[in-house]
Amino acid sequence: MQSSLWNWMAFHERLDMQTTMFQPVGGMDQIGKGFTRQVKDLITLNCKVSSIHQDDHGVTVTYTDTAHGNAVRQAQADYCVCTIPLSVLSQLDVQVTDSMKAAIAAVPYASSVKMGMEFKRRFWEEDDQIYGGISFTDQQISQISYPSHGIFSKGPAVLLGGYMFGPAAYDFAGMTPDQRIQRALDQGTAIHPQYRKEFSNGISMAWSRVPWTLGCCSMWTEEARKTHYKTLCAVDNRLVLAGEHASYVGCWQEGAILSALDAVTRLHKRALGAA
Ligand SMILES: Cc1cc2nc3c(=O)[nH]c(=O)nc-3n(C[C@H](O)[C@H](O)[C@H](O)COP(=O)(O)OP(=O)(O)OC[C@H]3O[C@@H](n4cnc5c(N)ncnc54)[C@H](O)[C@@H]3O)c2cc1C
Repeated sequence: MQSSLWNWMAFHERLDMQTTMFQPVGGMDQIGKGFTRQVKDLITLNCKVSSIHQDDHGVTVTYTDTAHGNAVRQAQADYCVCTIPLSVLSQLDVQVTDSMKAAIAAVPYASSVKMGMEFKRRFWEEDDQIYGGISFTDQQISQISYPSHGIFSKGPAVLLGGYMFGPAAYDFAGMTPDQRIQRALDQGTAIHPQYRKEFSNGISMAWSRVPWTLGCCSMWTEEARKTHYKTLCAVDNRLVLAGEHASYVGCWQEGAILSALDAVTRLHKRALGAA
């Protein structure tokens, strides 16, 4: 019991982690690409929003067009659905009521780091008969997750060599990319002695350092929910927020999609009322 082994044995029983789990073929970003195919003529990429102003007649969004010489441009509309994460939005010039401002500033973001590590061969399959799944560890890397595709194939393969949250994520985020790899190799070797001999390449991602999210996802407390959640999800004059942060299924794509549906429903009602 003291080893906390039970904690990980129950992992797949948690509400969020139950079987059956699906993976998009080709990687997670295929979901975003699927949406893009449907609405690509409506999207302008590489534009960094710096301010959102509104009055009783409409909304003006100021942005830097980074694909065109950093030109500063403005877009105007009757209403705005804003999906910028709160960690970023709280630092922008956004014209909203004081209570909305307080709600935007009230939600801290979790930190997370992931490590993709390439090995010359699938030693976990060939030597250890591990086919997919996860090895959990109480070291900082927290887990080694094995690919569930390409099983039995020859040649190099990539596994998830670490997936950190909390203090371990901040610790790794503060390291250079090479230091992260070395630390993950050291810790992974405790589980797989083949690690150093078979390692070929690695990459890490620390979401607290990604300027477009500044963290992994929102971390609501029950207290903050009580005080700010309703305000955050309400239409603020001509602006409504959407994203995983405006849902009860935070940190999941499901939350982002439910929130988007909720936001456009609210906006539609508001627009009909205003018409
Ligand atoms: C490490 C990790 C693992 C995860 N694993 C899973 C999983 O297995 N399953 C799952 O369902 N979910 C998972 N999630 C959560 C999922 O990715 C999020 O819940 C989802 O992407 C949130 O969608 P969103 O639209 O709210 O925000 P985002 O997808 O973050 O979209 C926000 C957008 O705003 C843009 N933006 C930011 N600042 C500006 C600005 N100033 N101007 C213009 N645009 C800006 C960003 O570029 C981004 O495109 C994971 C997240 C992380 C970080």
